[in-house]
Amino acid sequence: MDEFTLIDRYFKHECHSANVSIGIGDDCALVNTPDGYELAFSIDTLIPGVHFFAQGDPALIGQRAMRVALSDLAAMGAEPLCCTLALVIPRADELWLKSFSSGLLEAARCFQCDLVGGDTVKGPLTISVQVHGFVPKGQALTRDGAGVGDMVCVTGSLGDGAAALRVLKGDINVSSAAFAYFTDCYYLPEPRIDIGKKIRGLASAAIDISDGLLADLGHICRASGVGATLDLSNLPISSPFAGDVSNEERVSWALSGGDDYQLCFTVPENRSRSLFQLINARKCDITVIGRIVGEQGIHCQKSGESLTSSNVGYRHFD
Ligand code: ADP
Ligand code: MG
Repeated sequence: MDEFTLIDRYFKHECHSANVSIGIGDDCALVNTPDGYELAFSIDTLIPGVHFFAQGDPALIGQRAMRVALSDLAAMGAEPLCCTLALVIPRADELWLKSFSSGLLEAARCFQCDLVGGDTVKGPLTISVQVHGFVPKGQALTRDGAGVGDMVCVTGSLGDGAAALRVLKGDINVSSAAFAYFTDCYYLPEPRIDIGKKIRGLASAAIDISDGLLADLGHICRASGVGATLDLSNLPISSPFAGDVSNEERVSWALSGGDDYQLCFTVPENRSRSLFQLINARKCDITVIGRIVGEQGIHCQKSGESLTSSNVGYRHFD
């Protein structure tokens, strides 16, 4: 099978968005950027053994590649427009390609992010997805706007990504129901595009949690020239373990594990009413976990008691 047959068979498809005038098949895709919006784009590259299991279900690998890339759009408050795929494969394995492309295109459809082009090359398996999004001019959520006194918020629950990795590696044995839950956490992370849109004009800074809360909140703090104090009793943790993992370990996964793809953002105190309106009226899964402070670094407390790195298993960011 030559390259063009492969592209036609597995990746060429009808685009859904009215913004796409030319998709796969020409030298470039042609896409309209809606009036009054800025383009936001980001690329993520995944390699086996680091970002996914080489022997994993190709459809799920396709899903994961697309969803992880979309999470960066969510973090900017952007909506998906379209995406491109650079695919390096060792050979044209039709079963693998059929399954991979179906998973990738399904995720693309689900988040209205048409695949409009790409590149296909022979070599060691590498998957790069570039997503393009749009955000109203001047309203993108950036990392550098956090101010002293702002509330620190996160979406969803934290630590599931780290738990999922251990479950899938076989390091932890769980019930089959928990195994199914963690398989979904790993392969079908939910890019929080919905929340990213809703917190435009509300959040002073935002980031998606791909490397762990402390690392990613650390990026906001450094970019904004501030620090943060977190109350660990408020951390949203939801791992459905039957008590075979200690609470300390779960807290440490929530703080330092990666792969959660939730959002961490800051909200100035004078917008707290709008924040709580959003949480209550729209039933958004947002939790306030701390405050931005002037002193650099991230400091963790539990019910007022100060914690050191040794008893929560994480490192400070200075
Ligand atoms: P060119 O040689 O002009 O760069 P290619 O021959 O590489 O173009 O690709 C032909 C068409 O197929 C282009 O529209 C390109 O964007 C698209 N394409 C190539 N590989 C992929 C892929 N993996 N997924 C989606 N579209 C692809
Ligand atoms: Mg060309």
